Amino acid sequence: MGKLDYEKVLARLGQGPGPLLIICHISPDGDAIGAALAVAHYCEGEGRDYVLVNDDPIPARYDFLPYAERFRLSAAIAERFAQAVAVDCADERRMGNAASLFAKDCELINIDHHDTNSGFGDYSLVEGEAAATCLVLYRMMRASGTPIGRAMALCLYTGIVFDTGGFRYNNSTPEIHLAAADLLTRDIEPFMVADRVLEALTREQAELIRLGLATLTIDDRGRVAHVAVDRQMLLAAGADEGDADVLLPFTRSLSGVEVGLLFRERPDGSVKVSMRSRDRVDVGAIALHFGGGGHVRAAGCNFPGPLHDAVSLLLQRVKSEVAAAFGE
Ligand code: 5GP
Ligand code: MN
Repeated sequence: MGKLDYEKVLARLGQGPGPLLIICHISPDGDAIGAALAVAHYCEGEGRDYVLVNDDPIPARYDFLPYAERFRLSAAIAERFAQAVAVDCADERRMGNAASLFAKDCELINIDHHDTNSGFGDYSLVEGEAAATCLVLYRMMRASGTPIGRAMALCLYTGIVFDTGGFRYNNSTPEIHLAAADLLTRDIEPFMVADRVLEALTREQAELIRLGLATLTIDDRGRVAHVAVDRQMLLAAGADEGDADVLLPFTRSLSGVEVGLLFRERPDGSVKVSMRSRDRVDVGAIALHFGGGGHVRAAGCNFPGPLHDAVSLLLQRVKSEVAAAFGE
């Protein structure tokens, strides 16, 4: 395991044995997809072959990103790779089955921004204070004088918009605004990106909001709010579990709520949890305790199910953390 500086990371991405396998985390979000595609555009400029891979399909809302259509499902790839890069993956498990595409002695480079990142891989570039993996990539391109064309800029800007919640979270530093300003000079329409990434709702998602809100539960003190989406709801809405993201804002956004949680049942009965906190509670630490991870204000973890058990187990812990944070 070693730490690499920007020049060395770029040298490894631009050249190496065979095509570069580009991996971003399962259930990919705007930062993961934007970062993976930015690396693809860099390889393109260097004349390096690459394969973009994920266990899950790329959500249609990201269709506007150049080369999004080049993503392939890990299950559909027979080839094995001697070099890979993981972007926005807080730990090795977040790569999912894409990691089974490594040849023996495959060199793995880990580029990320999660505080909880373990530094896995042969080489890692983890900047825990950066709001987005796309900001880490932007810093790297600028520091090395690598040209950023419109396509790469659109990918980086999208990741930044996603992980700062449209420049609303406290991770929206002066530096990231300057980075965004620089990227915008490359003919990018801010509303097009914000609309696709943050605002657009499908009918299925709207239906899921209708059904999911019926499960909204707030604790006695009004500090913990959660929504639990089961398979029947997803089926009735014609939605998949990724669509349930739209319910998260209804939890933490409630006045006075410190921690908001979204539980969703997967097809195999396991439960994925997303946690958001407002001000005091480190949800990254709670997620880490249950084998997940993330950031102080946004984190996730997984439980075996059934849904009801996952809800009670996690709520117990969250409520005690909230009580401690409020000195109760
Ligand atoms: P979300 O709740 O939107 O899926 O994720 C919130 C944050 O927590 C993201 O930064 C995401 O990468 C991280 N995260 C979500 N689920 C997991 C998990 O199972 N393990 C780890 N290590 N991080 C996670
Ligand atoms: Mn990210």
